[in-house]
Amino acid sequence: MATSYEYDAVVIGAGPNGLAAAIVMAAAEKSVAIFEANETPGGGVRSAALTLPGFTHDVCSAVYPLGIGSPFFRSLPLAHYGVEWIQPPAALAHPFDDETAIVVERQIETTASALGADAASYRKLFGRLSAEWESLSIDVLAPPRWPRHPVKLLRFGSSAIQPARRFAERRFAGDRARGLFAGLAAHSMLPLERWGSAAFGLVLGATAHALGWPIVRGGAQRLADALSAYLSSLGGKIFLRRPVHNLAELPRSRVVLCDVTPRQLVKLAGSLLPSNYRDKLKNYAYGMGAFKIDWALSAPVPWRAQECSRAATVHLGASLSEIARSERMVWRGFHANNPFVLVAQPSLFDDCRAPAGKHTLWAYCHVPNGSNVDMTDKIESQIERFAPGFRDAILARCIASPVELEDRNANLVGGDINGGAPTLRQMFLRPNYHLYSTPTRGLYLCSSSTPPGGGVHGMCGYFAAQRALRDMF
Ligand SMILES: Cc1cc2nc3c(=O)[nH]c(=O)nc-3n(C[C@H](O)[C@H](O)[C@H](O)COP(=O)(O)OP(=O)(O)OC[C@H]3O[C@@H](n4cnc5c(N)ncnc54)[C@H](O)[C@@H]3O)c2cc1C
Repeated sequence: MATSYEYDAVVIGAGPNGLAAAIVMAAAEKSVAIFEANETPGGGVRSAALTLPGFTHDVCSAVYPLGIGSPFFRSLPLAHYGVEWIQPPAALAHPFDDETAIVVERQIETTASALGADAASYRKLFGRLSAEWESLSIDVLAPPRWPRHPVKLLRFGSSAIQPARRFAERRFAGDRARGLFAGLAAHSMLPLERWGSAAFGLVLGATAHALGWPIVRGGAQRLADALSAYLSSLGGKIFLRRPVHNLAELPRSRVVLCDVTPRQLVKLAGSLLPSNYRDKLKNYAYGMGAFKIDWALSAPVPWRAQECSRAATVHLGASLSEIARSERMVWRGFHANNPFVLVAQPSLFDDCRAPAGKHTLWAYCHVPNGSNVDMTDKIESQIERFAPGFRDAILARCIASPVELEDRNANLVGGDINGGAPTLRQMFLRPNYHLYSTPTRGLYLCSSSTPPGGGVHGMCGYFAAQRALRDMF
């Protein structure tokens, strides 16, 4: 008996990976519909007036080195659909207590020359990595497979696999280069003593020079809207305000792609999944949470090191030892007194974000998964330390603990922004050796809980949809 399907593919969740998966399906001339719980598409790529009228804040992600460099996004006509990348003069600033800062400029030489005795080491490391990033990214932003550039990947892997702390201490002699590398590596949300944590420092350092760390003019939502509009142009549909509680609620389709994390998939699929696979998903490890604040400001942040105003991203934590301590404590379930704080100041480079003369600011620190502790004072004190008088510029703030982040987006389990801890095992076998597939025919995972993991690049959705096309059509 012939089975009639309403769609070839249904996608749960309109995050960047769900949108990417749907676009791959639609581009292959398959009928596709996304069911999204929120009232706007984008998942971790959304903007909203979180504080005062006229102030546009990025609800989750804000800075896009992996977005501008994504092999999949680069194949799409995003500019035609309204995406304008803004490249601040520098990718990143990392201030110290002596009122100076290291600024990661696009030019390796300019950055290296500020690092004194570590200039040659820095030049050697990031000179090669950034020159190779274009080819390396094809293997790094991909599932485990035979690499296209094995020699380069092997060389990268032998450094990337190391604990960030050990790597920084062996590679650099001075506090400034070590602190800078620690800030980059702390994006891993792993203790810097953990194997594999250096990978994040290397990738983010390489992209800072190779691609820049851009923001999107008008806010993150413009990127999600462009992906949505392109999907619509290919005939794909997006149904908003449609939370899915059980796969049985979905229209009949050959393929279901889930832009959710393993814990949610277990709930959605229930006994459709064999119990041993369900057990594997239940054992999947989530990582630290994030505590996020968005501010409306009457003036730019008054950085003591004025060069911090050249970058959209600022890392606050100064030394390797301070950043490493903060990350280690959080991993062990405690709250750091001087948390490592990641700051984004988009309105310095994009006048669409705030009324004339006013500014937006975005920051988060890491906290234990599921924490409900208010970190506002600790985060603001860190900013004050490097920018005295900052508090005087605050007009309004919107805070989000891990619990509130998960309320905004069910994928942020316990506030984990990466869709699962990137421990060594989960970096490669993510969420387990099945990767995108499940033992249930036609059912796939396509979120950042699959390779290559967290970040706005859409590559998880791209590879999941490619797999589904191969298996099912
Ligand atoms: C505070 C914060 C800051 C970040 N900063 C950056 C950054 O600057 N740069 C960067 O590259 N990355 C950043 N990230 C990470 C990035 O946002 C994520 O890695 C990325 O969005 C993951 O994409 P995804 O499609 O896998 O999932 P998500 O973007 O989380 O999307 C999942 C979507 O699925 C929907 N959904 C879930 N369950 C259901 C259901 N049952 N029914 C219907 N819909 C459902 C959700 O509502 C959501 O829209 C940040 C994340 C956070 C939270």
